[in-house]
Amino acid sequence: MNKYIFSHPTSLDHYVADAFVVRCFDNRFWGVFHKFIKAQNLKHIDLESVAGGAKIFSSPEQEGDRDFMLRELEKSVKLHHTKKVMLFTHHDCGAYGGFAKFESDPEKEFAFHQSEHRKAIGAIQERFADIQIETYFIDDQGIIKILQRL
Ligand SMILES: [Zn+2]
Repeated sequence: MNKYIFSHPTSLDHYVADAFVVRCFDNRFWGVFHKFIKAQNLKHIDLESVAGGAKIFSSPEQEGDRDFMLRELEKSVKLHHTKKVMLFTHHDCGAYGGFAKFESDPEKEFAFHQSEHRKAIGAIQERFADIQIETYFIDDQGIIKILQRL
């Protein structure tokens, strides 16, 4: 008798991660995110999906949340020799109070996210001096690159 409820082969080869990626778990933006990652030709990513995405670095609900994610990054670097971090936030994010929080003003929302991205980069570079960081904002039309460090 077959013990598997689902059969699929998995390669156990070691890999080098192309990036450590932090996104919001909001499933509305999964499709565009996934297509973007493929289009960027990123084969192996260490992916973290948490409410608010990059918010966990810039404005964590609890200080320990940021430390947790920094330790996750530390493990990714150690295990998979990761040299790049990609951070995502998105339009109408519930973790930030939704679009209503910005009086439904896209410019206000966008400016806020830009400052959040700057903060997130600051929090990471304090601990990881040499790591490359890219930040992105997702809305209903696509993905906008915001910042790049190194
Ligand atoms: Zn969100």
